[in-house]
Amino acid sequence: MKHIENPNHICVHAGELHDTIYGGATAPIYTSTAYDYRGEGTNLYPRYFNTPNQVALAKKIAALENTEAGLIFGSGMAAISAIFMAFLKTGDHIILQRNIYGGTSHFVTAEFENLGIHFTMIEHIDQSSLEAALTSNTKMVYIETPSNPLLEIVDISLVAAFAKANSLTSVIDNTFASPINQNPANYGIDIIMHSATKYLGGHSDICAGTVSASQLHIDKLWKTAKNYGGSLSDQTVYLLERSMKTLGLRVQAQSQNALELAQFLENHESVKKVYYPGLKSHPQHELATAQMRAYGGMMSFELHDSIDTAAFLEALEIVKPALSLAGVESTILAPSTTSHSLLTPEQRAAQGISDFLLRFSVGIEEVAIIKADLDQAITVSKKS
Ligand SMILES: *Cc1c(COP(=O)(O)O)cnc(C)c1O
Repeated sequence: MKHIENPNHICVHAGELHDTIYGGATAPIYTSTAYDYRGEGTNLYPRYFNTPNQVALAKKIAALENTEAGLIFGSGMAAISAIFMAFLKTGDHIILQRNIYGGTSHFVTAEFENLGIHFTMIEHIDQSSLEAALTSNTKMVYIETPSNPLLEIVDISLVAAFAKANSLTSVIDNTFASPINQNPANYGIDIIMHSATKYLGGHSDICAGTVSASQLHIDKLWKTAKNYGGSLSDQTVYLLERSMKTLGLRVQAQSQNALELAQFLENHESVKKVYYPGLKSHPQHELATAQMRAYGGMMSFELHDSIDTAAFLEALEIVKPALSLAGVESTILAPSTTSHSLLTPEQRAAQGISDFLLRFSVGIEEVAIIKADLDQAITVSKKS
């Protein structure tokens, strides 16, 4: 687990826009869509990703991921689709991890055929499965770790080395870990994306995406991204920057709470299985410990057959059944009917996602309160 120097300092100060007129402590918001073109530098325009607030926030995300440059997008999927469009063309082949965000795998299965892009999805990523999937047209390898919703851990160094050895662009969805817990660039990954809708935003009120990479990769991405037009409004850029100042504090609290709650659930007689990389029982606990600083705020679990899962969700009083994740409030959902409902039942079964699986996004509330809520909901939803 490689050290991050002063993460909270970076969260607050990296890429800071200063109010040079009034000396205010926070960044001014530049909302213009029309800028004087006669002055120095490039033409400023929101869709060119180059307004002052966008550029400043891109510096913050680049600093947090330890890369040279960054771009801010209107959503996580805008970032992901721009990456695919910029680095893949008709006839190319991409290797992807099978257990990835449902929207990403749906993009691949719904759009790649029209684009003439070939793909191979791998169940478990290791050297031999990567080698078996490699073709003469392979251009990219795409991973997500910890994965959604089963918290599977992929060996980042191994994937980065495989990509380098075969001249592929390596891409990681780093959303679940956040830059606080994991910096894939330190292990040689080329392109790091986040759904900023999740931890970076952190208050369940912003939809955004980010990409961090070398200047070379960002320049190439930018050329395509400005054509697709997925930039983020400067008003929302401002809100995201404001949120990211507390990213380190939030993720630290969420990771601590999650570890304690995972242990609590694992020892609970009414819980069948807990998926959390911080548990010694997690099959890749050592790998997670090697490449993450903490194990994050996300886990999944299945209740024992004696518990009615639907009744359990109804009975929760503090933990909110809600789509999305990573807010300061604890939320929970059943992936089979929500995040992974676009997959067929067979695809879900192949990924190990049962109809009873619950994905739990741990908030910053006092852990004793969340524990008591889970406990009372289990008690009242026992089947008679
Ligand atoms: C939510 C999510 C995305 C997509 O992000 P949007 O902001 O919803 O477009 C991608 N990857 C992961 C892991 C996510 O959780």
